[in-house]
Amino acid sequence: MTVSQLLRHAPEWLSRGACGGQSKLMYDESRPEMARAVCYGCPVLDDCRAWVTALSPDQDPGGVIAATTEKERAGLAGTKVCSSCGVEQVVTEYAVRNSRTGLRRATCKGCVHAQKCARQTTQRRVAA
Ligand code: SF4
Ligand SMILES: [Zn+2]
Repeated sequence: MTVSQLLRHAPEWLSRGACGGQSKLMYDESRPEMARAVCYGCPVLDDCRAWVTALSPDQDPGGVIAATTEKERAGLAGTKVCSSCGVEQVVTEYAVRNSRTGLRRATCKGCVHAQKCARQTTQRRVAA
């Protein structure tokens, strides 16, 4: 689910959240502690925690929500097995394939990257 889809179906209390206008910070993976601090000072933290806990992994909009990162929520919410390497990993290790439905790819990010590199190497050999 994208952020705009999420906001379209946002609960009434979300407009009172302390993260209003701070989406850049809430999605900045390099400093989750600052985003968490925003949540800890938020008047609707309890409502937000109950709401995000009820979402399925495919509905998770990412970023820090209710003082948890997406990876932390995925660790609680679920894993899936990569169709290429066969390793079971948290769902955030799979890129979102369809932003409308939030469905994720069957192949993990690591395997997608490795396949892309292999293709580029082959193309360079053919071009040389
Ligand atoms: S708890 Fe955090 S994510 Fe939830 S509304 Fe408040 S500031 Fe936003
Ligand atoms: Zn894989």
